[in-house]
Amino acid sequence: MRMYDIIEKKRNGHALTKDEIDFFVSGYSNGEIPDYQVSALTMAIFFQKMNNEETKHLTSAMMNSGEVVDLSRIDGIKVDKHSTGGVGDTTTLVLAPLVASCGVPLAKMSGKGLGHTGGTLDKLEAIPNFNINLEVDEFINSVNQHKIAVIGQTKDIAPADKKLYALRDVTATVDNISLISASIMSKKLAAGSDAIVLDVKVGSGAFIKDFEGAKKLAQTMVELGNSMGREVIALITSMEQPLGNAIGNSLEVIEAIETLKSNGADDLTELCLTLGANMLLCAKRVNTYEEGIELLKQKIASGEALDKFREFVSSQSGDPNVVDDYKLMKQASHEFEYRAINSGYISEMVADKIGVASMILGAGRENIESQIDLSAGIYLKKKIGDYVEKGDVVAILYTDDKSKFDPAIKLLDEYINYSEHKVKSPKLIKAIIYKDKTVLL
Ligand code: URA
Ligand code: CA
Repeated sequence: MRMYDIIEKKRNGHALTKDEIDFFVSGYSNGEIPDYQVSALTMAIFFQKMNNEETKHLTSAMMNSGEVVDLSRIDGIKVDKHSTGGVGDTTTLVLAPLVASCGVPLAKMSGKGLGHTGGTLDKLEAIPNFNINLEVDEFINSVNQHKIAVIGQTKDIAPADKKLYALRDVTATVDNISLISASIMSKKLAAGSDAIVLDVKVGSGAFIKDFEGAKKLAQTMVELGNSMGREVIALITSMEQPLGNAIGNSLEVIEAIETLKSNGADDLTELCLTLGANMLLCAKRVNTYEEGIELLKQKIASGEALDKFREFVSSQSGDPNVVDDYKLMKQASHEFEYRAINSGYISEMVADKIGVASMILGAGRENIESQIDLSAGIYLKKKIGDYVEKGDVVAILYTDDKSKFDPAIKLLDEYINYSEHKVKSPKLIKAIIYKDKTVLL
């Protein structure tokens, strides 16, 4: 078999066989096939697409390029949750203890953030001494004992995806539905959970900007998971504006704790309840979605979810006192009150640009080597639909490097817009995709 022929076949619009897909994935992983040939192939896939069969073979090949974790030593139905990447997406920090407090085992491997999107691992590292590097055995023991553990994805999980994703990132071939689906699902399937709830983001802050594309992505991933014997439910949710009020690592830890104390932002709380109820459904902990919502609300109101957060933090060597004293996390040396440059209803807060502003302040990475400032970020006092007078405080900016305020402010001036007419806040949850039906909301 020759890589040249595979590239030519795809370029001419033909479907690749399982053997051809296995050949290029293993050849690329072990260094026999060079970057330039794989770049040409991913660009051909971008234009000519892959059918469902090819996407499934690509997913399996990437999943099997490394370790497939066996979680069978954990009792019960293990659920995982994954978001396709957003701005200020604090949900995992809330959901993990919330779902675990219902007795459902949560064994999660998370990633670090890149570019304008944040990663759960960086947020957890804002908690003093929190250890994200458990060995697989410790990870499994922790889930058996506490129902919860969140660790960094080990380097043995889908190594082919790691290499391919880095290549796509620099060759403008990320936003193809087959490539995204195979990338995400190969990692989720290798991480070993029985059931997966996906949060597919759509809008300015997401990889996929249009609803039809997001629906296709969600349906593809649900089918892929089902075809490999896993229960999968996907939500399609809006990423027009950042989620909740906080963007940045320690800011989002505080936001998650506040949400567990019943003081969360409406949108973040709604999304956590909806994702959580679907996780409980997948895990067969409840029989209906409504029953799931009720149980989650009760766990928040009783304080059990917050107690589970404390237990989770302690079990991974972190300081549980952060729950009561946010000053135990690193504080930013500088704050700036960002004020409305016009009067009116806020009509736009372009999610990816606000994410970039937060990254500039130090909350995110520009490349894999960048160091992040855990205390940096943006706290939004207003969201789309709110009325402001010119000069009202819209956001508070945090950083250790004062020189970063100017470029961040410039972005906010450009990408927060106002209208004289009343504006509705964007609908957050747009659809839920189950195995056998798509519910539009
Ligand atoms: N997240 C991933 O893990 N892979 C993609 O291709 C896109 C988003
Ligand atoms: Ca948030």
